[in-house]
Amino acid sequence: LPTSKPAPIHRLDESVINRIAAGEIIQRPSNALKELIENSLDAGATAITIAVKDGGLKLLQIQDNGHGIRTEDLAIVCERHTTSKLKVYEDLSTIQTYGFRGEALASISHVSHLTITTKHADSECAYKARYSDGNLVQPKPGGSSNPEPCAGNNGTIITAEDLFYNISSRKSALKNARNEYNSIFEVASRYAIHNSGVAFTCRKMDAVKADLNTQQGASVVTNIRQVFGFNAAECLVKVEHKDAGTGASFTGLVSSAAHVMHKPVFLLFINHRLVDNSQIKQAVETLYSSVMPKGSRPFVYLDLRIKPENVDVNVHPTKREVRFLHEDTIIGSIVTAIHKEVASTNSSRSYPVQS
Ligand code: ADP
Ligand code: MG
Repeated sequence: LPTSKPAPIHRLDESVINRIAAGEIIQRPSNALKELIENSLDAGATAITIAVKDGGLKLLQIQDNGHGIRTEDLAIVCERHTTSKLKVYEDLSTIQTYGFRGEALASISHVSHLTITTKHADSECAYKARYSDGNLVQPKPGGSSNPEPCAGNNGTIITAEDLFYNISSRKSALKNARNEYNSIFEVASRYAIHNSGVAFTCRKMDAVKADLNTQQGASVVTNIRQVFGFNAAECLVKVEHKDAGTGASFTGLVSSAAHVMHKPVFLLFINHRLVDNSQIKQAVETLYSSVMPKGSRPFVYLDLRIKPENVDVNVHPTKREVRFLHEDTIIGSIVTAIHKEVASTNSSRSYPVQS
């Protein structure tokens, strides 16, 4: 409670600072997964396998076949602000990778028990390293070394166990494992749809069958069908546009006017990042509500590319939002392009997109 005397100001302990920061970046298991998927994609993976126990709260594991982590970097990889991607601030305006600030693994290591198993192609064996609060766990006297050499394939396996074990309020707020799994599945399946060059698998640890299982090289439409069903994929139309003025361009697969779905689906990627943008979403939904039958909701997948120097990716701790220049112009051309396609398709003319 406020008192009349000022309380002394003191420096927070490093561990407190780190745990607070981690809680902002990793708000729920699906935020951790998004960071880990992006790391795998940054590492050039063509296959990503996700396994989940208790909605990711007991265990969240992601395996990739990317370039791996150099053995000599394992000591610092989970410290905050250690990255192989960014060097100077100016790099941010041209960055091609998802990652840039070196906080994801650090954050996860501050709120879970984190293990990294990794092997790069030139290394004879894999190494397994265990982390706590940003650092390698000190090996017990007589215990095995950390990192520990082991057998393994090229690539990386990241395992986060007991997420939020040390943030009890968060843990109790997230006790619905089913909700958390749904959110994990949503992130995984959306990245799977967008990245048709990568095979994605996502399953609950004890399940026989994967919930998501896309093949490398399958088309975007095939992936949409696998995730959202035949009905969603059936009468999509393709939209594309390049804006000479702003340099922005987009392609998309969107519902035709004949489309009948009861739940709206909106997938937006800006420069390959899965993001939310309520302005774009609202403008597109308003357009559809004027052309679709009552009660029917659109499916919209948009792949929007904006000049990197016109996009600010550093506006939200989870990177879930981005800001960009010429927003009104770009939204205007998205709406126009969709309207043109959708208005020209009615039930007799709508055609399935080739998959
Ligand atoms: P950032 O992605 O912002 O660099 P992270 O904490 O997510 O920060 O990762 C730190 C570093 O660890 C990365 O820069 C990368 O060099 C390495 N790394 C993380 N995950 C992987 C992976 N799956 N494969 C290869 N390298 C990885
Ligand atoms: Mg990263």
